[in-house]
Amino acid sequence: MSLRAVKGMKDILPDEISNWHRLENAFRNRVEGYGFREVRFPIVEPTALFVRSIGETTDIVEKEMYTFTDRGDKSLTLRPEGTASAVRAYVQHSVQAREPVTKWYYIGPMYRRERPAKGRYRQFYQAGIEVFGDPGPYVDAEVIDMVVGFIASLGISEVEVLVNSIGGPETREKYRDALLGYLTPYRTELCPDCQRRMDANPLRVLDCKVPRCAEIAAGAPSILKHLTDDDRAHFDGLQETLTILGTPYRVDGSLVRGLDYYSRTLFEVLGKGEGLGAQNALLGGGRYDQMVKSLDGPDTPAIGFAMGLERLLMAMSEAVTESHVDVFIVAAQAGVRGQATLLGRELRDAGLRVESDLRGGSLKSQLRRADKIDARIAMILGESEVEEGVVQLKDLKNKTQEQVPRADAAARIHALLSD
Ligand code: AMP
Repeated sequence: MSLRAVKGMKDILPDEISNWHRLENAFRNRVEGYGFREVRFPIVEPTALFVRSIGETTDIVEKEMYTFTDRGDKSLTLRPEGTASAVRAYVQHSVQAREPVTKWYYIGPMYRRERPAKGRYRQFYQAGIEVFGDPGPYVDAEVIDMVVGFIASLGISEVEVLVNSIGGPETREKYRDALLGYLTPYRTELCPDCQRRMDANPLRVLDCKVPRCAEIAAGAPSILKHLTDDDRAHFDGLQETLTILGTPYRVDGSLVRGLDYYSRTLFEVLGKGEGLGAQNALLGGGRYDQMVKSLDGPDTPAIGFAMGLERLLMAMSEAVTESHVDVFIVAAQAGVRGQATLLGRELRDAGLRVESDLRGGSLKSQLRRADKIDARIAMILGESEVEEGVVQLKDLKNKTQEQVPRADAAARIHALLSD
């Protein structure tokens, strides 16, 4: 049996990587423009971190985590998302003592043992942000506007922005009673998971994908009618700011999202274009004002979101295939290969991306290779060129050739590339 990647986990080969780089760089530029700084945390965390933060009754914790016992008998888990790790790091390093507001971003792989489908993988990449220390609602509107602008800048125009508020603990306490009152007559019609959720966290029933549960959930009373005055004012403030910013959005009172830690603001951006299929949630986020405290940190409001990079790439219209080479050095005879290698280093030091085939081969086969990898320029070096201190530059796009002094080669290539 030949060895293959684990089901639901994919290789990203170099041909696809330009799009990933473009996406990651665009994300970095966008969020750094808002004062976010990158944080990197481990891929493996103590299992208890996710159980305590994401919630015991969530699909992630109940069914999807890659959990294992290491050789020291510790239960560890491959991170299924980034927020829990961000909070753990924020608390562990007492970041709140250094700055009143903290803005972090991260990019990296996450692991969930979900059923693989188009746009749903067991290892997938998320780019996300977290803001600690600002209770909102202005920052809530700003991060939503930031990410909606980012998605538009990628050329993804068909999106829908959903926002909701699930209030704070007081709102949810009141709503829980109203929701249980509504759900109880349907109890036996709900799926076994939802019957359990009714006791542990009835809000999660609203997020169930089982058709009958979804039908029942559709008739449930709206949490928006149960917001306390403070929660209502917060949600109004968010909407007013989104209106000032001109960010399009729709209030969806049924948006709950699968993780337990949220409070107040919730949002999701759905892709409406083709290409995405059923997995059309591009990103999800929300406020989690109680989580830092619940992980033994100081009482700190926080908000964040995470986007699925595979899904953004699927929704991006044009694929970019960029050449990764500026110059291909062709050594006309075996005797000049040493000089060609030296020249390669000189050109790289001058900021050029240089390739060559150090195995040698005929002039023709080397030029074919230059064409194949889409090099813009072939630099040809033979014995006579070495003697005279010159090189031949062949512009493979404009089909021109010229001879230049070796010392001027880098400057001339830069000029040709910027044409
Ligand atoms: P969540 O952390 O569940 O709120 O997910 C945030 C975003 O990550 C989603 O909107 C998706 O874009 C992406 N995502 C979540 N799970 C997967 C998965 N299994 N495969 C690919 N992308 C995912």
